[in-house]
Amino acid sequence: MKKNDIFETEIRDLSDEGAGSGSNEGMTFFIPGALPGDHIKAGVTKLKKSFGYARLVSVIEPSPDRIEARCPVAGRCGGCQIMHLSDEAQLKVKERRVRGAIERIGGFDPAYVDSVMEPIIGMDEPYRFRNKAQYPVRADKDGIIRIGFYAPHSHRVVECGDCLIGQEKDRDIIREIRAYMIENRVSAYDEETGEGLIRHILIRYGRGSASHPGQQVMVCLIVNGTSLPHGEALASALSAIDGVASIVINENTRRDNVILGRRTACLWGQNYIVDHIGDIDFKIQARSFYQVNPVQMERLYAKAREYADLKGNETVWDIYCGIGTIGLSMARHAREVHGVEIVPEAIEDAQTNASMNGIDNAFFSVGAAEKVLPDTAPDLVVVDPPRKGCDERCLSAIVNTTVPRIVYVSCNPATLARDLRYLNNYGYELKAITPVDQFCHSGHVETVVLMGNTATRSKSHVDLGLDVEDYFRVKDSEKNQDA
Ligand code: SAH
Repeated sequence: MKKNDIFETEIRDLSDEGAGSGSNEGMTFFIPGALPGDHIKAGVTKLKKSFGYARLVSVIEPSPDRIEARCPVAGRCGGCQIMHLSDEAQLKVKERRVRGAIERIGGFDPAYVDSVMEPIIGMDEPYRFRNKAQYPVRADKDGIIRIGFYAPHSHRVVECGDCLIGQEKDRDIIREIRAYMIENRVSAYDEETGEGLIRHILIRYGRGSASHPGQQVMVCLIVNGTSLPHGEALASALSAIDGVASIVINENTRRDNVILGRRTACLWGQNYIVDHIGDIDFKIQARSFYQVNPVQMERLYAKAREYADLKGNETVWDIYCGIGTIGLSMARHAREVHGVEIVPEAIEDAQTNASMNGIDNAFFSVGAAEKVLPDTAPDLVVVDPPRKGCDERCLSAIVNTTVPRIVYVSCNPATLARDLRYLNNYGYELKAITPVDQFCHSGHVETVVLMGNTATRSKSHVDLGLDVEDYFRVKDSEKNQDA
């Protein structure tokens, strides 16, 4: 087999990245655009040792679940990979992937998995859910300002029309910024020369709170400099748009692909927006990490809380806590919460959020989960690691506490399954699994799992196998400054 070879295949599965998987001569191929149930013709694009990539040449017999994608730019913008698969089929495919990983990688018996698996939580209306969008701003070769998305495999910006998983208001905001740029002769950034002023537009939406009622929109202009000429003209146009509560300028004079710079200054209104999860309010700044699908995030956290089954007197560890969303949503139902997270700014946000909500029983430490863990014995551990899953040292420390319940929130079924196997080897039983569709129209799926320890637990002795000092000491080089 070699590059450009053409073959026919049935598509059986979908990868995390949303590519269909088929096979040729015993080798698995990932084929973007192909869907489970399709019979297709594909052309080899890349061969690796044990698998390959191919392009979809033609659909010979379409999957019965194939539909016309609703979004006019689906398939071109790279944001949604499977919008042409029916909503029900998307959920089925994701549920199947979670189940498959837990059986094959986790080594759990299929009948047993069936008995603890709950149905996937999908969205009723999986459109208009994203609370964040980033648009590059560039001039085309005729000098016309383009605000949209990058064409596939290039940095050419294509106007994007109305993205159906984003917010309609983005259009109004972009229209005002474009008018302002033309009127005031404000230039777009040029990656080749490093010149030009406006690089990106970041728009974020919050759902407000009792103290900040109504929608909260943040417009952040990322500029290759320190200020904007005629900023007041732009502020007055943008602030007239319903819901706009914050207009900020972020300085980024770097010559790389990182979108946001370190400094953010307020041009108009607040330098933050407010969202809420249940009865907890969150302040979100331009650089803060926050889940992009708030509706599904609430459902995910509700499930995590259900699995946590808190009675009010528990010590909870929230490991990989980000800005503390999970821990804070549990704090009022527990004795105390201890969060650990590697990004210092996220911990600052977590602390601000705790005090803003009058929560005084949540404590947060900056550090790597494999180095820094709280020194109070837990009654419940929640982990929500990045895609690569938990570090083994972190899992081993958790197991050593003999904590009775572990709630594992995961964005990657494969590493989740690997880690569940580890926990199972150390006496934890798989009690419940719920997949949640947070990233509709992409291949990704979120999962929440409850593991329970059957062994008796002694609270008096907790041997984490490390010197306590070590948990709180994080070398500067290990701090992930740019995450
Ligand atoms: N629980 C949060 C964040 C989950 S994302 C939420 O739901 O919003 C995973 C988090 O783990 C990120 O915030 C990332 O910065 C953090 N992280 C990555 N590697 C880490 C490590 N080694 N130790 C601690 N935190 C880490």
